[in-house]
Amino acid sequence: MTESDILNIKTLLSTPKKIVVVPHKNPDGDALGATLALYHYLKKYHHEATVIAPNEYPEFLKWLPGNETVVVYDNEKAQGAALIEAADIIFTLDFNALDRAGDMAGDLAESSAIKIMIDHHQQPDDYATYMYSDVTISSTCEMVFNVLEKLGDTALIDKTIATCLYTGILTDTGSFRFPATTSTTHRVAAFLIDAGAVHWQIHNSIFDTNSYDRMQLLGKALSNLNVLTDYRTAYITLSQEELNAFSFKKGDTEGFVNYALSLKNIVFAVIFIEDQANAMVKISFRSKGTFSVNEFARAHFNGGGHTNAAGGRSELSLTDTVEKFIAILPQYSKALNHA
Ligand code: 5GP
Ligand code: MN
Repeated sequence: MTESDILNIKTLLSTPKKIVVVPHKNPDGDALGATLALYHYLKKYHHEATVIAPNEYPEFLKWLPGNETVVVYDNEKAQGAALIEAADIIFTLDFNALDRAGDMAGDLAESSAIKIMIDHHQQPDDYATYMYSDVTISSTCEMVFNVLEKLGDTALIDKTIATCLYTGILTDTGSFRFPATTSTTHRVAAFLIDAGAVHWQIHNSIFDTNSYDRMQLLGKALSNLNVLTDYRTAYITLSQEELNAFSFKKGDTEGFVNYALSLKNIVFAVIFIEDQANAMVKISFRSKGTFSVNEFARAHFNGGGHTNAAGGRSELSLTDTVEKFIAILPQYSKALNHA
């Protein structure tokens, strides 16, 4: 994003507009934190702003300030479509291609609104009027902070905005441990704490609100953990039956894949989660070092993401998906053993 882009955006935002702010499908802490932070910022300039999430999101994100204003497109299609059609500006946050907005993608593509992308995923599509894409930055929330800084508006970051931004930085950096966490990330986090974000409360709200069922499901997932030593790979499966047995709710499997990645000498971890309602298997990929799960997910499982964290899907059965995965691994033997 150039200086003149920033000037243009500043001018655009200098008079009240109809604005829609969109996170990716299955929004996570970064996607919702970034969209809600921007929402609260835009409200300060008296814009008519609405966050439209493509679909439902986990309970552990529903405490975020402004959550009650979010329109879930899957549940309120007519309202969502009308808002998109009326919008002067659409911000797309934390995703790199319109199809990542799920069923909203068509409405977004048809809209003549000015589109502004803020995102840190690899290989962004070229759909936005203004594009701030930087794959080196920890989180979209850190990028939204940068945008507010460039607009000269960090003084407007109050407790509400700081809480939203801190949430996304916390979740997308794996609590400040992934390599994309820089000294700048920590400086931004420090700024946000000074602005009112209560770091331990945010951490508690996200990570320490487990249900008993979820803990039991984690136990099941860990008992299903498989290790492929030759490929420094570990994977977990969860069938629909297993999910049902522990009253699975959206978000319950968040972070499970990291247990596989925490094994000594493992550089590639995968979780396969059966989703019978959508006739697919949802897959999360994680890696350490140079092994790119973005490339792997793109090449074989219709997905993408970052070098060390990506997602994808398979329309095969759970067993066939795992079989396909294992059959692919020999091609990556060298890469995995030198990651
Ligand atoms: P997760 O495994 O936590 O769902 O996602 C990890 C990362 O990959 C996130 O940055 C997410 O946005 C991205 N991602 C997840 N699923 C998909 C997918 O199906 N397609 C693409 N392109 N990216 C995905
Ligand atoms: Mn993100």
